[in-house]
Amino acid sequence: MSASLATVSYIGATILFILSLGGLSNQATSLRGNLYGMIGMTLAVLATVFGPAVTMAGIPWIVGAMVIGAAIGLYAARTVQMTQMPELVALMHSMVGLAAMLVGFATYIDPAAALSFTGAAKTIHEMEIYIGILIGAVTFSGSVIAFGKLSGRISGNPMLLPGRHWMNLVGLLVVIYFGREFLHAETLSAGMTPLIVMTAVALLFGVHMVMAIGGADMPVVVSMLNSYSGWAAAATGFMLSNDLLIVTGALVGSSGAILSYIMCNAMNRSFISVIAGGFGTVSAAPKAAGGELQPVGEVTPINATETAELLREAKNVIIVPGYGMAVAQAQHTVFEITKQLREKGVNVRFGIHPVAGRMPGHMNVLLAEAKVPYDIVFEMDELNEDFPDTDVAIVIGANDIVNPAAQEDPTSPIAGMPVLEVWKAKTSIVMKRSMASGYAGVDNPLFYKDNNRMLFGDAKKMLEEVLTALKV
Ligand code: NDP
Repeated sequence: MSASLATVSYIGATILFILSLGGLSNQATSLRGNLYGMIGMTLAVLATVFGPAVTMAGIPWIVGAMVIGAAIGLYAARTVQMTQMPELVALMHSMVGLAAMLVGFATYIDPAAALSFTGAAKTIHEMEIYIGILIGAVTFSGSVIAFGKLSGRISGNPMLLPGRHWMNLVGLLVVIYFGREFLHAETLSAGMTPLIVMTAVALLFGVHMVMAIGGADMPVVVSMLNSYSGWAAAATGFMLSNDLLIVTGALVGSSGAILSYIMCNAMNRSFISVIAGGFGTVSAAPKAAGGELQPVGEVTPINATETAELLREAKNVIIVPGYGMAVAQAQHTVFEITKQLREKGVNVRFGIHPVAGRMPGHMNVLLAEAKVPYDIVFEMDELNEDFPDTDVAIVIGANDIVNPAAQEDPTSPIAGMPVLEVWKAKTSIVMKRSMASGYAGVDNPLFYKDNNRMLFGDAKKMLEEVLTALKV
């Protein structure tokens, strides 16, 4: 393929990626957005593999790597559970970081690249390598820790080392100092030492940064690492002089940054305080010896038949799904109930919190999978005012996102986080298996309110019982 045809293909792929992002911003157009992305990526891969940058001798290597990568990707996509998606995404971000690191080292030791740059161009090229490896290393180790936290392999509690801000500052100064050493290195081996030291510091920084972040702040970390992976890809693009990779990386980096901003707003947190870490250190409720939260009041249980009766008599119902709906895979049964109620003339709507579940858009994906119509799915801000006029608010496996302590208790770790005000409905019903806390590890005063009922059990099983009772 000629260089000009490859460039035209790259421009086409860039346009498709932008259209893809535009499509993904809305549920109704997200399928189309995905399709644009897939076509764009196919075009990009073909134009790269058959473009001028790849020699015939390199093709078998690329094809071999693609077959292995595609096999792993296909296997992961087929076997991963919906609840494991967030950690899979974190793992994928770590791969982007690792790739940026490896490309950086490979570019540095590539004899051809060393010969083709002199003077200022050489300095710029080496800066690209240094910054590329730096971003890649932070993304890699940070994402591995995020994977550990999201999958429960590492505790969600923040690890707060004494003098941690000073440690970060010293790390930054070390990186700057060794950057200067690297740029002044006369030989390849002389430049290798500062590069390796910086990589080690960056890897440690990534671990430290994410370890210090508490459970409730993880949504911001997920989107922030998404953004970092974009910048790591853009840095790789600079190192390889690949324009498409630069543009694509910048698109991912900036959209991830915007998402982080949206997540921060959704949690009423400043980005700097999230990065500084430590959120979610204190628990609002006393803990038992085993570390489990102790109930601090009386709750009123309800059974499936009574729930069905309340729903049948209601005029307005709001359903608030959370992480437990994903665990139970209850979305299809939720929709069956919705259809039943709508047929009886009940106004049923869904209220989605921006950080519900374990990844941005988690609930929207599940509801779309169950074919819930988009026009009855609302953002938190769109229906929070409607709870006082709501007869029944059903909370399905959600906890932190409906916790009134965020408004009522200034000492709560989630104080200030906007929440869905389900307790303002005439009756709220919380479906969960036990009195266990949610991801942030804080007790929920909603459970003890007079107008709240607890429907204990697995969400899918209980909803099936409610559905059966509704059909009678
Ligand atoms: P929570 O984690 O607060 O609560 C989920 C609840 O679901 C639990 O209390 C659990 O209680 C219940 N549950 C679990 N399995 C089942 C089941 N099979 N049937 C019924 N209930 C079940 O989830 P929310 O969605 O309310 O809040 C999201 C939390 O995750 C926030 O703290 C957010 O900051 C954090 N987070 C969000 C991310 C994002 O991007 N959206 C990323 C990372 C973290 P029980 O065990 O008693 O059943």
